[in-house]
Amino acid sequence: MELFNSLKNEILHCTKCELAKTRKHVIFGEGNANADILIIGEAPGRDEDIQGRPFVGASGKLLDKILAACGFTRKEHVFISNIVKCRPPGNRIPTPFEAGICMPWLLKQIELIDPKILILLGATALKYMAGPEHRITLERGNWLNIQNRLAMPVYHPAALLRDPLLKRDTWEDFKKIVFKYRELVNPDHYSAHV
Ligand code: SF4
Repeated sequence: MELFNSLKNEILHCTKCELAKTRKHVIFGEGNANADILIIGEAPGRDEDIQGRPFVGASGKLLDKILAACGFTRKEHVFISNIVKCRPPGNRIPTPFEAGICMPWLLKQIELIDPKILILLGATALKYMAGPEHRITLERGNWLNIQNRLAMPVYHPAALLRDPLLKRDTWEDFKKIVFKYRELVNPDHYSAHV
């Protein structure tokens, strides 16, 4: 826990890239520091930048609903982080340069939290964690091996808000995550829906 807190302190004071100049908050992430599931999004947006917490806007509310349907909570089962920890102006996609500078923080979080399952939320998380040739539309719902862990790419909640038809596939993907969680972590994990 000491290492985790000192990492948090370092990240909260980071000025390694230009995004430090326009951010209001560095979004370290949130959840259980010993979670078996680490959720990786793209970058903080406007609401997150204002509040200093990850996934608190409309996308975050939808993510919380999906997690609840799986029987997962932020407090107990997951830790939520992003590829970059400061908001890119105008919510643009982080550049490869920004991701390259910031991602060592995420990799340290993965090392310290030591989750069994990674959930990659959307194209940007997939691209930066797995490689630029990967496509979310082709690979969502299929387990990958990343950082010696199982990783499940799924559509980003923002994509589900834009196109509700994607929700059906996404729910099938999250069901696979619940089954895997029961297999690897807790066979008695309860979900009212899976
Ligand atoms: S985006 Fe990452 S590397 Fe850039 S200032 Fe924020 S924490 Fe540091």
